[in-house]
Order: sequence, then C-alpha cells, then structure tokens
Amino acid sequence: MIKNPVPWPNGARCAVVFTWDMDADAILHLAHPNDADTRLSTNSMLRYGPQIGVPRIVELCKDMGVKHTFFVPGWCAEQYPDAVELMVKGGHEVALHGYLHEYPSEMTREQEEFWTRKGADAIAKVSGLYPRGYRAPWYKYSRHSTDILSGLGFVWDTSLMGDDNPYIVRSAGGELVELPSRWQLDDWPQFVHNHDLDFMMPIASPQYAMDVYMAEFEAMWEYGGVWVNCFHPFCSGQVARLMMVRKMMETMQRKGDVWFATGEEVAAHLRQLMSEGKYDPRVDHVPYYTGRLPELAEDYFIRSR
Ligand SMILES: [Zn+2]
Repeated sequence: MIKNPVPWPNGARCAVVFTWDMDADAILHLAHPNDADTRLSTNSMLRYGPQIGVPRIVELCKDMGVKHTFFVPGWCAEQYPDAVELMVKGGHEVALHGYLHEYPSEMTREQEEFWTRKGADAIAKVSGLYPRGYRAPWYKYSRHSTDILSGLGFVWDTSLMGDDNPYIVRSAGGELVELPSRWQLDDWPQFVHNHDLDFMMPIASPQYAMDVYMAEFEAMWEYGGVWVNCFHPFCSGQVARLMMVRKMMETMQRKGDVWFATGEEVAAHLRQLMSEGKYDPRVDHVPYYTGRLPELAEDYFIRSR
C-alpha cells in the first residue's frame, strides 16, 4: 500500500518517532493575552507538563532505553529550564515549537522569521544546542516556513501531513526532510477538555486512544512507513495515560523489527541514503498555491458566462 518505502536500519519494518510538545502555559497566554493571569486552574493544568509530566516521561524513557524528541516553544524553555535540562541529560532531542506558540500561517514572512529566530535562540541558550527540527504550533506551517527554517539551518520538520514515508519539502529558498504527522496520532482529540482553551472533547479512555495509535503503528509496521505521534506532557504525561504510553512502547518492542529513533536521526538516515544513491524520496514543492484560485474571483462567473 505504501509505495517506495524507506530501507530502515538493520532491516527494521518501520520507524517510530515518539514526540512530545511541551506547550506549558504559552498556549493560555496566547489565547487570552489580557487575562491569562486570572485563569489559575487552566494554568496549573498546563504547568503540570514541565513540572510533573516531563520528569516522569524522561524517567520512563530511561527505564525503556529509548530516546524521544521534545518540541519546546522558546519562551517555555526560558520559563522551565529544569525540564529542558532533564531532556538534554536524558539524551533526548530538543526541537523548536515557536516562541510563544504563535501561528506562522497567520503572520507575515518578517514576523515569522523574527519569532522563529527568537525561539531557536532561546532553545540554543537553554539546551546548549541549536535546534535542528521543527513542528509549527497547531501544525500551522506557512508558505514561508521552508525558506525561513532552512535558512536558519534546520534540517527536518513534522508539521505537514502529505505522506506515510518521510519526504522532501522544497521551496524556492531551501528544503527540509519532512516526517509527516497525522491527527490520529495527536492526543488533543482524545483527551483535551478545557473551557479556557475552547477545546471540549469527550474524554477517551487510555485503551480507546491506544487502539487508535496502535492501529497506525500496525499499518506502518506492515507497509514500512514512519510513525510520528504528537503527545503533550500536561495531557499524556498524566499517570493513567503514561501507563498507556509504556504499554505501547512495550508492545512495539515485543513485536520487534522496529527502529525507535529521534526525528533528527530519521532525517539523517534519509540524507545518508540519498547521498549514497540508495533512496530517492518523493519531493513536495511548496507553496502549493499563491493567492485565491482564479475560479473563485468575485467576477469569475460574470466574466466566464
Ligand atoms: Zn503545541
């Protein structure tokens, strides 16, 4: 079903990249800039991520002997340096997720470049390493993101959803390795229920959510794609859900022939195969469109009659 699967290291059937977005309370400030300070309950729910969730996730990874990728907004790294330090000490990848979780697709190119640079500088300062990977807040990757990110030295992204294999996203100004995301592997649709964030899902059981995530894993294992999730420490770092994460990793390990890797490792593997002429990835050119479709011009009907 998947055409042109990547030859994974050691003959693995698929690659698995566990990722966590440590949004913390940046998303509350962004949603309610004038009175986020008055909304203490939601703030406490989100601070659970860096303060309780991340230490627990890092501990679990140590137990299981696996490395994950953490996406962190620059502001959150500055606010919660201890959480970032734990990620670094655990050998995990720290990648970029905006500065204050602002949305690139809603900004001018100049604004996006400013915030991306500010976020990357903050991550570099707190973690000691300039980030190489990126996920746009809310997956809101813009027409300019490829140019801006490749110009800043980023090598991979996981905001787009255009394939089951890693692929190349190419713009006039550069290119990145894309590790495609998919909403089925995000924990917000399963669990997040909060008035202040205007996101009110019926809360799924960990077992139900795991069925959704593992169906994607079984499919990637069968046909050779890449499995990249998007969990959040404030949400899936909670005890019952992290027990589910452990169970998922154990099931994957038991099944075998799975390459557990960070995003950066998968991107480097793809580049290596390409440089040796062993793999020719699909190339997606962006942006797909510029401006409104001519058929949707207000006078199109009048002019075309
Ligand atoms: Zn986020």
